Amino acid sequence: MSTDSKYSTDSKYSTDNKYDAIVVGGGHNGLVAATYLAKAGKSVVLLESASELGGATTSVRPFPEYDARLSRYSYLVSLLPDQIVADLGINFKTLERSIASYTPYKKGGKDGGLLISQNWDARTAESFRELTGGDEEGKKWQEFYNEIAELAKRIAPYMLQPLKSAAELKSEIGLPEVWKFMMERPIGEVIQDRFQDDLVRGVVLTDALIGTFTSAQDLQANRCFLYHLIGNGTGQWRVPQGGMGAFVTELNRVALLNGVEINLNSHVTDIDSSSNGIAVSTASGDKYVATDLLFAGAPQTLAKLRGKNAPSSLDGSQMKINMLLSKLPRLKSGVDPKLAFAGTFHVNETYSQLEKAYQVAKLGDIPSDLPLEMYCHTLTDPTILSPELSQRGFHTLTLFGLHTPAALFDADPSGAKEAAKAAAISSLNQYLEDPIESVLAVCGDGSLAIEAKSPIDLDNDLGLPRGNIFHRDLDFPFIDGTESAPIKWGSETDDAHIFLAGAGARRGGGVSGIAGHNAAMAVLTKD
Ligand SMILES: Cc1cc2nc3c(=O)[nH]c(=O)nc-3n(C[C@H](O)[C@H](O)[C@H](O)COP(=O)(O)OP(=O)(O)OC[C@H]3O[C@@H](n4cnc5c(N)ncnc54)[C@H](O)[C@@H]3O)c2cc1C
Repeated sequence: MSTDSKYSTDSKYSTDNKYDAIVVGGGHNGLVAATYLAKAGKSVVLLESASELGGATTSVRPFPEYDARLSRYSYLVSLLPDQIVADLGINFKTLERSIASYTPYKKGGKDGGLLISQNWDARTAESFRELTGGDEEGKKWQEFYNEIAELAKRIAPYMLQPLKSAAELKSEIGLPEVWKFMMERPIGEVIQDRFQDDLVRGVVLTDALIGTFTSAQDLQANRCFLYHLIGNGTGQWRVPQGGMGAFVTELNRVALLNGVEINLNSHVTDIDSSSNGIAVSTASGDKYVATDLLFAGAPQTLAKLRGKNAPSSLDGSQMKINMLLSKLPRLKSGVDPKLAFAGTFHVNETYSQLEKAYQVAKLGDIPSDLPLEMYCHTLTDPTILSPELSQRGFHTLTLFGLHTPAALFDADPSGAKEAAKAAAISSLNQYLEDPIESVLAVCGDGSLAIEAKSPIDLDNDLGLPRGNIFHRDLDFPFIDGTESAPIKWGSETDDAHIFLAGAGARRGGGVSGIAGHNAAMAVLTKD
């Protein structure tokens, strides 16, 4: 603890709990922020409401009799810069998936599927040919993603630097055409221009809609698209070895190693700020004071704690379903399920199905053709299963359903969750030879090894406002003139001692640690 005399000595706070910085929130961003500060010699306490660290990056054993640790919420990593891993010295690996995606379809009464390898190859070319009848769409696919790959390479380093204006960044990156279609023109329009096939268009579009309840024609979709394609300079979505929990275990280790004090079960209920610094109290009555506060929960929560108006944001819009399988299901198309489920498995995600699902959900109904994507962690990394389960052929399956905004669950949270789960299962089963229920592991009480999380659950379990997986709507990673106060790192608030360190900071969102890094840099460079 610091003995610095500039701390508040307000009599309602004990003079013992004085720090250079208080970090609120022990998700991955809070841990990253705390560790950067501690490494720079600051005294840091981290306060977390829950009894465990991790927030949306936890692994759990949801079906206790089975030794299978699933990434309960987030499950793939793209946005985490190598620089953060190296700076913090964490021993955490992500693994490449050999398959990028598989999208089953029915054509002329026959079942087929678009299989796309991680790196373009003859099998992928053939699969495009089978779907579209020629090579044109495949060529366009390669051109489009090559252009974006160049943007990713050039823009990624800027994520860990002070923000630039849109004009500065555009000119430094030097890809004006790509910039235009990624940042300025609705991505739906761009996709319709560049591709002809409804299914190919949809596979591209899904990256613009993850967790984001919007139409393809809205620039909010571009923001989501950008974050899904520039991660760590490659945009590749990789499998966290050992599951998401392995990341948090390592972050916890380096935080403690560098002297961060971590207090669990410490729900912050009050934040006071004065020119001397910050005073914080928790539900259990503990008090802490510090020069700076880094808030790594949602900005809406921070606003509430400070008695301010919360920033507006879209509802979270996804269902997460976790499953343990006794074996992989066979597909009607006859493709090997080890190929189909190794990458992202898309269902009901043609361009027109995605737009239709958005319109249906907007009118207040759960889309019956629920768009969803799935992947099997254990095909790339079996270490999350016990050797015995692995040997018996068990696998995990993760399902992420789109266009299920929180508003659909308000009136009857459990009834609507069951309805959305049923829509997801029947959407998937249309392509399976073995219905998914027939391959789910069976628990001792006869129940099936499947758990579903609606946006309302995410709000209740994790404090994600209205289930928004990015805390609030994503912003472009530059200063765009809409800011109400000057910002440098994207972490600043209207209080010189309070910083946003979680996903809701500019350039936050997703499993990246970027918001935590940038908030720590804002504190370390402010004087
Ligand atoms: C279902 C789901 C799937 C996702 N899939 C992916 C994916 O595959 N890849 C990806 O990159 N991203 C994914 N995301 C998004 C990503 O997980 C989050 O954006 C990211 O983990 C947020 O991290 P964070 O540390 O900023 O905040 P959080 O993980 O939300 O952690 C915030 C922490 O603050 C604590 N807290 C809040 N208020 C208080 C308070 N008053 N006092 C004390 N503590 C408090 C909370 O308990 C929580 O532990 C997914 C999210 C969800 C929910």
